[in-house]
Amino acid sequence: MSQDVFVFLEAQHKELRPVTLQVIGAARQLASARGGKLIGLLVGNDLGDLLDQASTAGVDQVLVVEDAALAPYAAEPFTTAIVTAVKQHGGGAICCGNTSIGRDFGPRVAQRLGLGMVADVVAIERADAKPLFRRPIYAGKAYCLVEVQEGDFVVSFRANSFPPAEPAASPADVTRVDVNIDPTALRVKVDKVVPRQSDQVDLTEADVIVSGGVGVKSADGFDTLKPLAAALGASIGASRAAVLADYIDPSHQVGQTGKTVSPNLYIACGISGAIQHLAGMSTARCIVAINTDPDAPIFEVADYGIVGDLFEVVPALTEEVKKLQ
Ligand SMILES: Cc1cc2nc3c(=O)[nH]c(=O)nc-3n(C[C@H](O)[C@H](O)[C@H](O)COP(=O)(O)OP(=O)(O)OC[C@H]3O[C@@H](n4cnc5c(N)ncnc54)[C@H](O)[C@@H]3O)c2cc1C
Repeated sequence: MSQDVFVFLEAQHKELRPVTLQVIGAARQLASARGGKLIGLLVGNDLGDLLDQASTAGVDQVLVVEDAALAPYAAEPFTTAIVTAVKQHGGGAICCGNTSIGRDFGPRVAQRLGLGMVADVVAIERADAKPLFRRPIYAGKAYCLVEVQEGDFVVSFRANSFPPAEPAASPADVTRVDVNIDPTALRVKVDKVVPRQSDQVDLTEADVIVSGGVGVKSADGFDTLKPLAAALGASIGASRAAVLADYIDPSHQVGQTGKTVSPNLYIACGISGAIQHLAGMSTARCIVAINTDPDAPIFEVADYGIVGDLFEVVPALTEEVKKLQ
């Protein structure tokens, strides 16, 4: 076991993701409490400008693993790269975002290193030698506290749960780690990744989300939500029922079988608040619900509730937001 803490530096479109900066902020608490260094792990191929971004992101050192087999992302070679870098360094706790990639390689890395994993952490209650993490359970109905009793561990942090790290005043040292990945031995080969055409911020990292359910009544009904989303700089979410009714693309679905989101503001329009929907959004800092039914369960978790027809309330709200701007 080493005192040091690793942070997986996840990037998208040649930029470090916002969640990565938040994970650095969280991991810094652990590194400070352990009296160790915070080490960024940058994994991929043809990393270019990312090296500069990584070195000033707020870590003390960057370990880079670059190899043709490491792009696009695939679980097997990334696991090998991370495990190799961590072992060569002499161990340490490993932090990543609770993103689809973090959830994919995290348990594999933990298993290969013989460590436990704490997933989807929303708060660090205690950062000392026996860290105590808070994570939602039962689809967000309750929280549990998980204590790591000894040694190193892997932990994934939910996006938007921690403030981002301050950028470093001077660049951290960058060290390359050699890794031996035989591409012919990989069981899964990702040929290419087709990015979804969308100009909205990834829902999992969005600060504000305007979300629609069956109450929007049709695909065109989502047009009522778009001006409010535009005025607030928000991304558009949806309930599964709205997705199944073909009102909107499945990539917008929030909930147990959709995306888990943690925005500062979540505006639920015409969404009843089924447990499976709440599972994906109940950790939002402020929830506003607009629903014609005063007994809709969404009002039980809402900070502000408006009982009314969304086709009247949303345009009125949009006008008020525009006036404030
Ligand atoms: C295994 C499993 C996984 C699931 N995963 C998910 C998931 O990931 N995400 C998810 O969302 N669901 C999920 N579901 C489905 C979930 O149980 C609900 O069926 C779904 O969330 C309901 O969507 P809704 O709130 O849009 O629709 P409804 O429950 O039909 O609610 C529509 C609401 O709109 C209101 N309304 C109607 N007209 C208006 C109006 N003009 N103005 C304002 N309000 C109006 C109504 O009062 C009502 O409350 C899952 C279900 C299962 C079994």
